[in-house]
Amino acid sequence: MHPTDIIKQKLEKYRIESKKSRDINCVVHDLYDSAVLKSQEFTDEQKNGRLFGKLFAVKDNINIKNHPTTCASNILKNHKSIYNATVIERIENAGGLIVAKTNLDEFAMGSSNEHSIFGISRNPHNLDYVCGGSSGGSAGVVSAKLVDIALGSDTGGSVRQPASFCGVYGLKPTYGRISRHGLTAFASSFDQIGIFSNELSDLIDSFEVISGQDSKDSTTSKIKNKPFKYCESSTKKMKIGIPKEYLEDTFIDTQVRKKIDSMIDFLEKNNFIVKNISLPLTKKCISAYYILSTAEAASNLSRYDGVVYGHRDYASNIQDMYKKTRSFGFGDEVKRRIILGTFILSSGYYDSFYNKALKFRRLIKNDFLKAFNDVDLILTPTSPSTAFKVGEKINDPIKMYLSDIYTVPMSLAGLPAMNFPSGYNSEKMPIGLQLTSNQFQENKIFSLAKFIRDNFN
Ligand code: GLN
Repeated sequence: MHPTDIIKQKLEKYRIESKKSRDINCVVHDLYDSAVLKSQEFTDEQKNGRLFGKLFAVKDNINIKNHPTTCASNILKNHKSIYNATVIERIENAGGLIVAKTNLDEFAMGSSNEHSIFGISRNPHNLDYVCGGSSGGSAGVVSAKLVDIALGSDTGGSVRQPASFCGVYGLKPTYGRISRHGLTAFASSFDQIGIFSNELSDLIDSFEVISGQDSKDSTTSKIKNKPFKYCESSTKKMKIGIPKEYLEDTFIDTQVRKKIDSMIDFLEKNNFIVKNISLPLTKKCISAYYILSTAEAASNLSRYDGVVYGHRDYASNIQDMYKKTRSFGFGDEVKRRIILGTFILSSGYYDSFYNKALKFRRLIKNDFLKAFNDVDLILTPTSPSTAFKVGEKINDPIKMYLSDIYTVPMSLAGLPAMNFPSGYNSEKMPIGLQLTSNQFQENKIFSLAKFIRDNFN
């Protein structure tokens, strides 16, 4: 079949299937029409591009020119982007087609995709369960096979945790690997754009296309990404670390625990060196993360004041205008974090909370660096449990925050980590496990994930 006919067929399939899958509520803006137009104007360069023929969905906190970027918030409900994020330019130049923008927790704050003005995203495996969050919509559309690849953002786990709940691959790259230009800021020293896919090869291709230095984001690294090449014999020489703190019984669901035990067995049977390691500060990571990320969020979100961006409520003086605009514009979870972050940054508390958490962040990084003197990769669960039911944690923020226990440490340390699908529990919900490497060593993660995909049943 002619390549352009394949695209036509894929777009048509997307159009039909996305209508059938409305109940998962993962798509918030349909870009089908614009994708059809773009597919008719493909240049030769795009036709020969590495992502030619691939359909993408993009979390609705990443800018696509002339389309809405709402962050699932009333404050940006009618906001349209006037420029493309760097990742969007790179995907389109390589021939990828973006067909949808996806649901999220408001401003990417959440772990269940229940905090959205568009309503809850539901897990394609069972509609009673959440997709996870905050990139729940992106995980859901990939899991439902509406698209090949989706972009999300991961500040403390928002790609990896929903990927594990929905049974797909989900990568958070090294901090600085992928440009954040055009990603709406939540906590800038943590935020990274991440990638979801069903096929590992699609994730690697997309990663290689969108990563790399960008003059529009000064935090992107100059370190060049070596193209991924799989070599089974060098993969089998890698040493795998298992941190004991991640397997403590109080946190972890028994079926997730069983899965990691069987993965360890599998690796040992295949002659990998599997070592017990310790990351002693793990339990305190949640507190440090929620101190630093809320402080950064309070500062980043101060720009939504009704003057330059988004929604404005009118009042007789400017103070009341701010108050009315922000009271209406933000949902409860975002308000909770702005209040917490403002408190943390206020004089008198800054040193005892913010500075202390910053110092702690350095210690976490040191612990990981020490571990990587001994091992190449760290294997852990992605989340202590599989997907939970809609409504189960929504009224208990602490419980919700604790579900990030296995993903925030890597975010504090700026390390790359990936969820890989690892089978199902007795309720037929997916179980995900996580591989973490030292910074800029994503290729090691891909190598072991490929070995596991090819050999683990
Ligand atoms: N669930 C975490 C939070 O609520 C992570 C969010 C994210 O990675 N964007 O902050």
